[in-house]
Amino acid sequence: MTTAILTDQRFLVHDDPSHVERAERLRAIYHALDESGLRSQALALEPRAATPAELLAVHTQQHLDTIQRFGTHGGGYLDTDTYMVDGSWEAAVLASGGVIQAVEAVVQGISTNAFAFVRPPGHHATPTRAMGFCLINNIGVGARYALQQLGLSRVAIVDYDVHHGNGTQDIFYEDPQVLFCSTHAAPYYPGTGRLDEVGQGAGLGATLNVPLTFGVGDKGYVQVFNEIIIPALHRWKPELLLVSAGYDAHWSDPIGPMVVSAQGFAQMTHMLANAAAELCNGRIVLVLEGGYNLNGLAASALASLQVLMGQNPKADDMGRINAPEPDLAALLNHIRQRHPLFATE
Ligand SMILES: [Zn+2]
Repeated sequence: MTTAILTDQRFLVHDDPSHVERAERLRAIYHALDESGLRSQALALEPRAATPAELLAVHTQQHLDTIQRFGTHGGGYLDTDTYMVDGSWEAAVLASGGVIQAVEAVVQGISTNAFAFVRPPGHHATPTRAMGFCLINNIGVGARYALQQLGLSRVAIVDYDVHHGNGTQDIFYEDPQVLFCSTHAAPYYPGTGRLDEVGQGAGLGATLNVPLTFGVGDKGYVQVFNEIIIPALHRWKPELLLVSAGYDAHWSDPIGPMVVSAQGFAQMTHMLANAAAELCNGRIVLVLEGGYNLNGLAASALASLQVLMGQNPKADDMGRINAPEPDLAALLNHIRQRHPLFATE
C-alpha cells in the first residue's frame, strides 16, 4: 500500500500574512510532514498546471479571464474576504492541476490513496465566481477530470470543512455522476447547504447536506458519518472517493464553531478510507481546504495522513474537548426518512 502526497513551494506565493488563509498554514503542514518523518515514507507527487480545457470543464471562460487578469495586474481583494497577489493565478492553476495529478496517481494505481496539500483552497469557488478565499474549485476540477479523461462514471465527494462547499455543490448540482455530501455548521457562511438542497434534474438525490448546529465534536461527527455519510457512500457505490478535507471544525479554530479534535478527524478519515476499501479498491484522495489554527490544522491533517498510510495516529498534544454535544438524532432521522438517496430504504 502506497500513499502519495502532493506538495509544492509555489503554493506559498499566494499570501497575505494578515489574512487567516495565509501561506503560513501550508508551511505549518509541510514542517510537520518533515518533522514527523511522514514525508519520506510517502510517494512525492509534483503538481502540473491545469490546462485551460481542464479548468473550462468546471468554470466559465469569463470567471477564468477575470481572476487571471486580476492576479496578473497586482491583485487585491476580489470581494471582502478573497484576495489575490502576483502569483496567485499560477498557484491556483497549480493547485487544481495538483488535484488532477493526485487523482490520476490513484486511479492509475501508482498509489493506493493520496493527500493533495494545496492552496488556495477551492470548495467555495463556483463555476462563475471566486469567493470565500477560493479562486478555482480544485476538487471540482479533479472530479471532472476523473470522469472525462480517466473514464470513471461515478465519483463521490465528501466535504467535512466547517463551511458548506457551495461551489462544489453548484458545479455538480444537476450531475448524475457525482455525489456531493457536506457536513457544515449552520446557520453560517456561506449560507447554503440546507437540508432541502438535494440536487436537481438528472442530479436529483446526488447532493446530500448535513447542516449542523454549533458545538458538534468527535462524537457527533462520528455519528453523522456512521448514520448518514457512510451509508450514502454505500448506496452510491463510487469508483473514486474525493474528500474536501478542511480542518476548521477543529476546536482550536479561530473561525469555526465546532469542537472536533485531531483524533476525531482521524476517526472520520478512517471511516472514509474503510468505505473506499470496500467500495473502490481503497481509492481515496484528500484535498486540503480550510483550517486556520496552525497547530490544530497541522495536527489534524497529519492524523488524517497517518490513517491513509495505515498507521495509528498518536494522541496529539492539543487534546480534545469533552463538553456535552448537541443531540443530532432528530436531524439524522429526518435525513434518513426524507432524502431521496435513502428513499428506497
Ligand atoms: Zn472552511
